[in-house]
This record gives sequence, C-alpha cells and structure tokens, in this order.
Amino acid sequence: MRRALLLLVLCTGLVFADPHWTLYVNNQRFDATMGGQDTMRVDVRAFTHALGLPLAKNEAGQVTVDGQVLDGVTTTDGTDYAPLKNLVAVAGLRMETHPDLQMIDIRPKAVAMSAEELRRQMLHAYTVSTWPQMDYLYKLVRETLEQRLGLKLDHPVVTHWVTLADIRGMAGADGYGYSTAHVRGMDVASLDLYVPFGLSPSLTLHSMAHELGHCWQYDHGIFSAEPLKMEGFAEWVASKVLESLTMSGELQVMKANVYAQYRDGLVYFQNIDRSGGTSAVLQEMLKSRK
Ligand SMILES: [Zn+2]
Repeated sequence: MRRALLLLVLCTGLVFADPHWTLYVNNQRFDATMGGQDTMRVDVRAFTHALGLPLAKNEAGQVTVDGQVLDGVTTTDGTDYAPLKNLVAVAGLRMETHPDLQMIDIRPKAVAMSAEELRRQMLHAYTVSTWPQMDYLYKLVRETLEQRLGLKLDHPVVTHWVTLADIRGMAGADGYGYSTAHVRGMDVASLDLYVPFGLSPSLTLHSMAHELGHCWQYDHGIFSAEPLKMEGFAEWVASKVLESLTMSGELQVMKANVYAQYRDGLVYFQNIDRSGGTSAVLQEMLKSRK
C-alpha cells in the first residue's frame, strides 16, 4: 500500500448506467448467473463453492444445501441453476440489493462475536480481513463522530466492504486512477461507502472517517468546493477521530501527505479549529454550499 496513493479518493462519482445487474458473492464478482434482479438464477455448484457451503443430493435425488432441500433447481447444459432468492433463504445468507448501482451483494451469515473478542482480534491484526472487524471499526468511527464531534448524517450510509481490486475498478477516467475508499451518491436517498479489506486497522479507520467527512459534505449539499476544502475537511474529520482514539502514528502519516490539497487543507481547517472550535470549522465548510 503506497501512502501517497492513500487519499487519492474520488470525491465525485456517477451512478453507473450499466444495464446489467452485477452479483457479488463474498466480495468477489460472480458471473455464473442468468436473468436480472428478481429473476436471477445462479450456478448452484459455483455459488455454494464460493461460500464454502456443503452441497449434496438426498436419497430422493433433491439438491440440498447445508442439509436443506433447495427448491426450483433446473438443469441447463448439465449445470444446475436455482433462483438466487431460494439459495439465500435456504442458507440463511445476507443479501443487499442496490438498485442505483444495479448490484446485488451476498454475504455469509453473520458470525456472532462479542465486542471483547473483536477488540482482542483487532489488537493483533496486521490487516482488517473480516466482516465483523470492518463492522466493528465502522461502528467505532460513527460513534466517535456523533458523540465526540456532534457530526450527524441525515442520509443513510450503505457500507460496502470490498477488495482493493474493486476499489481500483471504481476509479474514473478523470485522472484519478486509484482510491482506498470511495463514496458514491449525490442527490440520492443514500450514500454508498466503499472501504477495502487488507489495510491496517489504523488506515482503515482513517479511510472510513475521511469518507464519512465527505458524506457530511454531501449530506449538507456540498459537492464541489475547491479541492483544498473538500479534502482538507475530510482529513480534518479523520484527524479528529484518530485523535479521539489516540492513534498518533496515523496522524503523523496524515501530515506528511504528498498531495497538497490533503496536507495543506488539513492545516487550513486545524487553524480554524484552534481559534473557533468544531462549530467554526463546520460553518466554514457550509460556506461552500451552493
Ligand atoms: Zn477525499
């Protein structure tokens, strides 16, 4: 992970106009599908393999997943297909549908884990690699933003924990080739937050908080202020979160960012914070509202 590339985050984005629905299973693009959103059917063998689910046939010749009979199986060219919805129901999977992105996201069943267990895991983690770890860090950032900074978001934020390859694929053709986290959604009902697995816990917190800073801007109708203010504000939000969580190492990294809009933008808002506090920073940012 190159630090220099860390905050090359696309701050604007367009909802894709792709006429085809894309299915993600366990964070990976899954292509063995037929049909669109409601009628989507998937290759049962490939699908269960992607999720590590036990697939078998019972004595009556019915296909079973995790010991339960799967309805609606049909065979095309020797491959068994079943309605995605039936598989989700039988295996107790989590399914999120995002009509604006024409994307369906399938995740494994949630693992019940205590906060204590998660904290222990995180202390020893080099990289954030599981859903519960991501959810835990995200909760930490949201709580810090709301309780210590008083930053509330009206729009719901839909979280997507993805791969670095997914993030790279989202970067647009406008010169920004890379980002570690990404927000899409402008005048829409919800904001989409993308953060990749595989970063350190501190960098993950940094990325989440930075992107939520952009969410606050979008939430307040600020989409296109000058880069120094867009990025500087997001970095200031991240710095406040990292400060609250006493993660000083990541704060040092921030100050050394090679991109001026991030580094100097942070200093710009820190100076306002020093003289007028959080409310002065927010007032300054709100001046950019169109
Ligand atoms: Zn940004």
